[in-house]
Amino acid sequence: MFDNIGNKIKILAKVLCWIGIVLCVIVAMVMFVLSSQTDSLQMDSVKSKFLWCGFAFLILGPLFSWIGSFVLYGFGELINNSAIIAQQSNRSNQIYNKKMEEQHKKEKEQRKENIRGQILDDNVSEDCYIDIQCPHCDADLSYTRYELLQNEFIVCPNCDEQFSTSFFKE
Ligand SMILES: [Zn+2]
Repeated sequence: MFDNIGNKIKILAKVLCWIGIVLCVIVAMVMFVLSSQTDSLQMDSVKSKFLWCGFAFLILGPLFSWIGSFVLYGFGELINNSAIIAQQSNRSNQIYNKKMEEQHKKEKEQRKENIRGQILDDNVSEDCYIDIQCPHCDADLSYTRYELLQNEFIVCPNCDEQFSTSFFKE
C-alpha cells in the first residue's frame, strides 16, 4: 500500500493536475453559457465580465494547475531518486564487505601457510620463535618451533580457549 511511494506521489500530481484542468474548463464553459444567456437588456458589462472570467479560467486555470503540480511531482521524483541512491549504496556496501571478507580470508590462509612452512621447515632452529594467531580470538601469539612441534594443544593466554597446533601443521 505504501510501496513505491515516489511513483504514487507522481501519479497523484498528474491526477490532481488533470482534475484542476478539467474543473477550470468546466467553470470556463459555465461562464461562457452564463455570458450567452445574460439578457441583452441587462448591463453589457456583466456579460463581458462573464466572458473575461471564462477566458481567464480557460487559459490561466490549466496553466496554474500544471505549474502547481510541479512541486508535488518533483517531490515524488526526489523520493524515487533517493530510494535508488539508497539501494545502490546498500548494494555497493555489500559488494565491498564481501570483497573485504574474501581478502581477509585470503590473508589468513596466507599467514597460516607461512606459519606451516616455518614449523615444518627443518632448517628453522627449534628455539626460533614463530608468530601465530589464535584461531579463536586472532590474538598475536609467539611460540618456539619446539613448543609448536611438541605440544598438540595450546591454551590461548588471551581468550583461554584451547586450540590444536595441527591447525597450523596441516
Ligand atoms: Zn585466543
